[in-house]
Amino acid sequence: MSSLSPRAGDPTTKDSRRRFRPVGGGDKRVCSGLLDISKTELITAKVPFQSKFDHPSQAPQLISMRSIMLENPAQHTLYDIVIATPLHQGKSDIIFSGFSPPLPSHYPGRYHRTVSTLIHGRLNMSFLWSTKKASDFTVSHILTMDSEDSIINSLSSIDPVQIPEGYIRPPASVAHVWKVFSPQPLTPEQLQDMFITWDSSSETRWLAYPIYRPPQRKTPPVILHNRLYYLNAVEWAASAMEMSAISARNVALLAHHRGHQQEVKVDQEDLHTRLRGEL
Ligand SMILES: Cc1cc2nc3c(=O)[nH]c(=O)nc-3n(C[C@H](O)[C@H](O)[C@H](O)COP(=O)(O)OP(=O)(O)OC[C@H]3O[C@@H](n4cnc5c(N)ncnc54)[C@H](O)[C@@H]3O)c2cc1C
Repeated sequence: MSSLSPRAGDPTTKDSRRRFRPVGGGDKRVCSGLLDISKTELITAKVPFQSKFDHPSQAPQLISMRSIMLENPAQHTLYDIVIATPLHQGKSDIIFSGFSPPLPSHYPGRYHRTVSTLIHGRLNMSFLWSTKKASDFTVSHILTMDSEDSIINSLSSIDPVQIPEGYIRPPASVAHVWKVFSPQPLTPEQLQDMFITWDSSSETRWLAYPIYRPPQRKTPPVILHNRLYYLNAVEWAASAMEMSAISARNVALLAHHRGHQQEVKVDQEDLHTRLRGEL
């Protein structure tokens, strides 16, 4: 594991064969599948926004929450609103106006830059300091320690989106797709060190997970305002899809209990003791 902090972008060492089971057709099918199974209606609504940017692709990020919540008072009384994107610099430009007490658009703390590079090529075994023959090397995930000397955080062999019948992950001697997470973009020279040959690469720069080091380690609030909840506050405890799923469930329960005046079910002090007793 590359660091003691719980962070996204690092595959965990724990039972990685089970964790990284590929989804035929691509992982994006999980989202549409979950919506179908839960019979959730996804409404793609045009949220009012105003742009202060010159570049059109950046413009939709600037949204006035006030216009969502206050322009139509009927909606405000009908719905609870859950913010499900990080409210941090570089991640979101949602503006909360007209709230009392005022709500910040950004909470303190920043996100780590992680660069994801997909490369189609043949791995250079000497980059890994391995004496193994490339034709015998079928390791799927290589993780590095949190070392300033290492140019990569992790290196993973990627399976095809459409998995053919009888598919077996190819060894490093066969050109296939690798995914590299690195703190900085990889230079052509670094790619040449890592791969004997490569014919294509694609780079994406992410702000992937919170910087957990001081001075900022405080978790933002989950309840931002009456009927306004913030799901991604959980990332400041640990950042992973599972955490977001737990947070979403908790927020739904919280909104339900508050909406039905069941405050007694919120922050139950003896809950853990009772759950232990039930087990
Ligand atoms: C490179 C990388 C690798 C990762 N690897 C793993 C992993 O192996 N395992 C794991 O568990 N987690 C991993 N994570 C973390 C995981 O992706 C996040 O925990 C998860 O995506 C959080 O889900 P979310 O829905 O809360 O937020 P997001 O997935 O960030 O979704 C927020 C959405 O809100 C949208 N949005 C933002 N602003 C607005 C706006 N104003 N109006 C409308 N929409 C808006 C964004 O476009 C985005 O679609 C990784 C993350 C990165 C970046």
